[in-house]
Amino acid sequence: AQAQLRQVQKMESIGQLTGGIAHDFNNMLAIVIGSLDMAKRRLGEDGDPRIARGIDNAAEGAQRAAQLTARLLAFSRQQPLDPQPTDVNKLVGGMSELLRRTIGEDVRVESVLAGGLWRASIDANQLESAILNLCVNARDAMPGGGHLTIETGNAHLDDAYAAAHADVSPGQYVMVSVTDTGTGMPPHVVERAFDPFFTTKGVGKGTGLGLSQVFGFVKQSHGHVKIYSEPDEGTTIKIYLPRHYGAELGTGYAAPASDSLPR
Ligand code: ADP
Repeated sequence: AQAQLRQVQKMESIGQLTGGIAHDFNNMLAIVIGSLDMAKRRLGEDGDPRIARGIDNAAEGAQRAAQLTARLLAFSRQQPLDPQPTDVNKLVGGMSELLRRTIGEDVRVESVLAGGLWRASIDANQLESAILNLCVNARDAMPGGGHLTIETGNAHLDDAYAAAHADVSPGQYVMVSVTDTGTGMPPHVVERAFDPFFTTKGVGKGTGLGLSQVFGFVKQSHGHVKIYSEPDEGTTIKIYLPRHYGAELGTGYAAPASDSLPR
């Protein structure tokens, strides 16, 4: 429980720090990108090609840096999310084409969607990118192929669970998990997996921002995320999202006024 609390506090302060840096950095990058663009135009069509190439390389590097700061800003996002009653089964179902394209042929993707699933009160776009991040990690953990399972279910996190996880309030949640049959993670990797910039994928491959996006989104949504991993066996990451209470029918449904109900 203490470790979980420390993790949440650590992420909060890292979020503030990176948010501030990313914001300033972005402004400087805008100057760099703008100036390179202007230099390229001044150089014109018949300028020295070596200079033109140099400018192109610099501009490409600056664009990559801008993508990184965009991800950092997303991680440290201060602006509020847009939580809406969301059918997570439908959301997962709607991702099948995207997943097919992202995951490739060597990994079998299966979804096990619970019947009678409660709706979750969350930002659907953010949830989709969180699930995508988990699936990309799952794919990367199974270079020789394997099995990826996305599962949903209603979940009750009880007092005992909350006592063991300082950031959890007991109650009803919508659970969505991603399981792979990949490399798994030793405990010291699990410990640091949510840290921004923590990656074991090597320079130029991983950014170490995927799981920190997941963590940031889940915490902001008042949910909970947990890693179960066994080296050489595989990994399950479970996300718990707060249940939406209210009419379980689709949007646009208005409960009849009480005086129109039969008596
Ligand atoms: P990145 O994917 O860019 O490395 P992440 O924050 O998404 O950044 O993940 C951090 C690290 O956690 C990964 O580099 C990897 O070591 C580990 N990891 C995440 N998901 C899995 C998984 N499903 N199986 C094994 N290791 C994982």
